[in-house]
Amino acid sequence: MTYLDHNATTPIRPEVLDAMLPWLRDGYGNPNSVYSLGQKARAAVERARESVASLIGAADQSEIIFTSGGTESDVFAISGAAWQARAEKNGRGTVLATRIEHDAVRGQLSELRHRGFDIGEAPCSPDGVVAVDALRASIDERTIVVSVMHANNETGVLQPVAEIAALARARGALMHTDAVQSLGKVAVDVKALGVDMLSLSGHKLNAPKGVGALYVRRGVRLSPVLTGHQEKERRGGTENVASIAALGVACELALRELKSSAAHALVLRRRLEAGVLKISDARLNGHPERRLPNTSNFVFSGVDGHHLVVALDLEGFCVSSGPACSSGASLASHVLTAMGIDPGLAAGSLRISVGWGTTEADIDRFLKCLPVAIGRLRSVASVA
Ligand code: PLP
Repeated sequence: MTYLDHNATTPIRPEVLDAMLPWLRDGYGNPNSVYSLGQKARAAVERARESVASLIGAADQSEIIFTSGGTESDVFAISGAAWQARAEKNGRGTVLATRIEHDAVRGQLSELRHRGFDIGEAPCSPDGVVAVDALRASIDERTIVVSVMHANNETGVLQPVAEIAALARARGALMHTDAVQSLGKVAVDVKALGVDMLSLSGHKLNAPKGVGALYVRRGVRLSPVLTGHQEKERRGGTENVASIAALGVACELALRELKSSAAHALVLRRRLEAGVLKISDARLNGHPERRLPNTSNFVFSGVDGHHLVVALDLEGFCVSSGPACSSGASLASHVLTAMGIDPGLAAGSLRISVGWGTTEADIDRFLKCLPVAIGRLRSVASVA
């Protein structure tokens, strides 16, 4: 099996698994217990907090709140800011985001719309870059929070977060970014980005599923989504010690290897794209350069994305058509249609995302199988 779907999830690295296991065996103490078994677990959680803080350049480790993953972090940032503003009756009632956000954000936007908040979603250019001018015109003194993802999960296009954060700050609004896809692939620094909140997820970073974190800049107040005493009253629930320890080690590895892994991914991506674009009627979606080094998104006219994924699976390749949560249905991706791609064509999209463990030989084998699979699907489609 050749795994080329690292934006959906990633394999757990052996070092990360090793860091996790002691807390599932003998180190089962509750980190909130005062005796030493608990305090050892507490120390592991706090070490991991430091590692997450250093990867994203946070000023202080207390700015990291552990969560159950990217979805919870997004929901916490956006709805925590919205409900806090309502509680403070500060005259702000608008939440702004973009049309290309992940469903974790989009779902929360529709929830807040039903609860009486005003919601705005900025468009993007045909190459998938969010329109800064549209946000410049919308952010005002009523804006609570602006949420713009750092890198898009489908196209890998990197967004002008720092520029938008400056606009938000100038009008007293909070800035949130979903950096679930960019962390470990490109440098992410909360100070350089100028964000107040940043979401991250373990399983996109060679750590387990079901763990993540939200960076919250010191001084920013959010209404808790999960109430309780843990995480300094900001997020209730006994900490997932084993997964948090694993996330810490994954962040240390990501920081140490960032340059080399990004360079390797870029070599693979270029090799892949050069090969795929030789196929007739193949097109690359998203900005040609302003992209994560590991992500390529293509459309092939006359080919259904879901059928292509199944055909490639039979050849031993794991790839995806659209975001993982909606794969299984050949729906046109909201990201590609926001970029102006025809819904019929967008339903044939194929996302390849390389990562830890991917080799040039993997890409070469894929490039041999892909044209054959596409040719077969096109000939079936032409007969039907
Ligand atoms: N945000 C983005 C951009 C993602 O790609 C994902 C997962 O696909 C999420 C949020 C959700 O993260 P999690 O699966 O950890 O809830």
